[in-house]
Amino acid sequence: MIRCVLFDLDGTLVHFDYDDFLKEYFKAITISVAPRIKAVRFTEALIRSVEAMIENEDPSLSNRQVFFEDFVKRVNTPEDILLPMFEDFYANEFTKLKDVLAIEPHPKARAMMEVLFKEGYDVVIATNALFPAMAILERMRWGGVYGFPYRLITCYETMHFCKPNLKYYEEILRITGYQPEDCLMVGNNMDEDIVAGALGIKTYLVDDYLLDSGMTHCTPDLRSDFSGFVEFVLSNGIQKL
Ligand SMILES: [Mg+2]
Repeated sequence: MIRCVLFDLDGTLVHFDYDDFLKEYFKAITISVAPRIKAVRFTEALIRSVEAMIENEDPSLSNRQVFFEDFVKRVNTPEDILLPMFEDFYANEFTKLKDVLAIEPHPKARAMMEVLFKEGYDVVIATNALFPAMAILERMRWGGVYGFPYRLITCYETMHFCKPNLKYYEEILRITGYQPEDCLMVGNNMDEDIVAGALGIKTYLVDDYLLDSGMTHCTPDLRSDFSGFVEFVLSNGIQKL
């Protein structure tokens, strides 16, 4: 029986095209932070350090630690100088991307979430843990799903692995205390979200903003657009899984 619902954020709960978002995000952070440090190729350094986080297999290092250990070397600037710049960017500039990308909450997202909490499900925001918590909370505001008593919101401060590493999902199971068969993962990305099925977690592919490299061997248990998922929730579909 499903007791915990895990949601991807970008392209699932918050409706936007991830490639458009990344393009504008890199543009904005490069304008904001790059001129204030000595990096020759700031954007490339950022991409490489994000890759370091994704590839990390050391459970003793948080994603944030992996990122900064790698990034400080690439840009030859200490963390105590970099950190306030990043915090300033996320507090003041990151929020503007909502308007740049014309992001609006899906009209049914918040009401759907209210139903899940009313029915007693634990809910995890299982967004790839590449961002600081403040950037994740901000995108939850964009999607109209901010302010619920989530069981866990995965962010780079607290997690030690990233999608598509299955250890990311194992860490969620460890933190929440659930078994795979207790959980349903809802996401738009075959490689990063539906891959959770390899652990025995039930999966629901929301395909409005489908991402699929064709590389994963997992098949979603269920599939529809987001409105179809909302209908599934409202018709007690989760209880029948
Ligand atoms: Mg996504």
